[in-house]
Amino acid sequence: MSPQSGTELGSAAVRADTEVLYPDGATSSTGVVTHVVPLADGEFGVVLDRTAFHPVDTAWPDQPSDAGVLRFGGESAEIRRAVMGAVPADGESAGRLFVGEDVPVRTGTEGWTFCVVHVVDGPPPAVGDTVEAWADPSLRAALSAGHTACHLAALALDAALAGAWSKPVSEDPLGSPAFDALAIQSSRIEPFGSVDVYRIGKSLRRKGFSVDALDDPSGVAARANARLAEWVAAGGAVRIEREASGISARRSWVCELPEGRVEIPCGGTHVSDIAELVGIEVTLERTDVTGGVELTMRTSTGPASTR
Ligand SMILES: [Zn+2]
Repeated sequence: MSPQSGTELGSAAVRADTEVLYPDGATSSTGVVTHVVPLADGEFGVVLDRTAFHPVDTAWPDQPSDAGVLRFGGESAEIRRAVMGAVPADGESAGRLFVGEDVPVRTGTEGWTFCVVHVVDGPPPAVGDTVEAWADPSLRAALSAGHTACHLAALALDAALAGAWSKPVSEDPLGSPAFDALAIQSSRIEPFGSVDVYRIGKSLRRKGFSVDALDDPSGVAARANARLAEWVAAGGAVRIEREASGISARRSWVCELPEGRVEIPCGGTHVSDIAELVGIEVTLERTDVTGGVELTMRTSTGPASTR
């Protein structure tokens, strides 16, 4: 990390993680501006003491950020996106704010304070102003549906590939060999869906995974889809559990399935019951790449019903 990177915050360094309200489902919040920093292209980064905005994570950018409006006094500014900000307590960059892709550490790294940086295009509010952050609820609902569907699809894929393993490996919360956790390369949540890319190389084969299991990707997808249909029909409560209200606190996705309660570490947003989803379906595509095989799972779900 170069000492020139990051924005000097002077004596008013970010002293506490931003308190976040989105894990409980909030899409609007009132907070106080603690920092305003100029960004590239005439944009500004606004840090609040608390916010309903879900920012995209830097190290594992699976769920895109919310978008919406910041209201202050009689004025407003479009919030184009929200990203992570981080400030180290010690070292040559102590007290400097790193924003978005410039954040050099994983969220939660000790010795750093983490904040949500709301990226606005217009004249920003002033430090000390009380503002309202409003996240577009329809975008949030679409991403929440996509994220819940993504977790369920991963569990269904693990179950559909359970027979492909010849040695014991770590298990997912339902007791299947943890293909998703062991092979995932990238996960992107979309409105009402997700795209997950898995890589099966030498190390996964050494752990006992047979690539032959992917000779018929549509057969694997059909098994996963049968499981997903059962889960959607049964319904089940979904919630986020967390140790604390700060942005860097450990959070988990907790879901009640017919097989039992499952818990997966997760920083995103979700629907409150699987029954809100109108079906979940996956397709699988196998591609041969240098040194192995890539498997792409596309998950789609219908818009959540309003009940
Ligand atoms: Zn997640």
